[in-house]
Amino acid sequence: MQIWNSSSSESKKCIICGKKSGSYKVYEESGISIKIPLCQDMYDKGCYYKVDVKQMTTLAIRTLKAEIKRQGEK
Ligand SMILES: [Zn+2]
Repeated sequence: MQIWNSSSSESKKCIICGKKSGSYKVYEESGISIKIPLCQDMYDKGCYYKVDVKQMTTLAIRTLKAEIKRQGEK
């Protein structure tokens, strides 16, 4: 599982506070990624640092991967 901050010119509302920003927290495993809009400011503060959903996203991506393989093997 890799976790990083991605900046995009495409602004989305922060999931927590609703503030518009181009900051995303990305969780990636096996080439599948989950991208979550979470704000971040220039002082390295913001909702980005309040959230850690590593365990859940790992499980979600593994489940997704298993389902994709299952469908592909039909
Ligand atoms: Zn926020």
